[in-house]
Amino acid sequence: MGILIFRYVVVAGVPYLWLYVIGKDKYVKYKIQKAQPTRKQVLLEIKYSLITFCVYSSGIWPFLFWLKDGYTKNYLEINDYGIIYFLVSILLMILIHDAYSYWIHRLMHHKMLFKYTHLLHHRFKNPSPWSAFAFHPFESVLTMGIVPVIIFTIPWHNWALVIFITWMIFYDTFVHLGYNIRQLKLFKFQNTPLDHDVHHTNSKYNFGLYFTFWDRLMGTYLIKKEAG
Ligand SMILES: [Zn+2]
Ligand SMILES: [Zn+2]
Repeated sequence: MGILIFRYVVVAGVPYLWLYVIGKDKYVKYKIQKAQPTRKQVLLEIKYSLITFCVYSSGIWPFLFWLKDGYTKNYLEINDYGIIYFLVSILLMILIHDAYSYWIHRLMHHKMLFKYTHLLHHRFKNPSPWSAFAFHPFESVLTMGIVPVIIFTIPWHNWALVIFITWMIFYDTFVHLGYNIRQLKLFKFQNTPLDHDVHHTNSKYNFGLYFTFWDRLMGTYLIKKEAG
């Protein structure tokens, strides 16, 4: 729990300090929505993120049990599958997670579920980096479901999983920056803060996390004019 909170404070706090406090005036032209999030909103984002971390730290126990008893496809030596597979496995985790999060996200937008669960994340129409993990506990459980999906389906090394989870934390925070940093858009199919901002203002579009493949394929992709 302590590690989760520490990582959250660093990963969300550094860009928040940089873009919303120190560089607030300097970077204003890159702000996607011109209004700044209120203090009340930021405190709520932090409150719900802390609840999410309570759920995540409770969910680690079945994971440790499965690992200890050898139920998962974990392997111990990188050489067992080689360095190429080690790198490919991280990429596979990202691709599997991208598909998983797109469909889980679509599911949570179903009218039977939305009002009771995912609406909470959509309270933050002008997201800040603190909102990346501001979920209803039910949504936290669903998002955590990616871990069993990965560890039971592909051979994985501990470090590959650590790198993937670290990447996920950074990327989820990145899409909630609220600022359009063009230099960080590296390729056409990359999901960006601008794309995710569309989702927070118009929840019919842009359900993706890392890429826009699924949104383009399913007709839920909407491009917003660039800020700045
Ligand atoms: Zn969001
Ligand atoms: Zn949504």
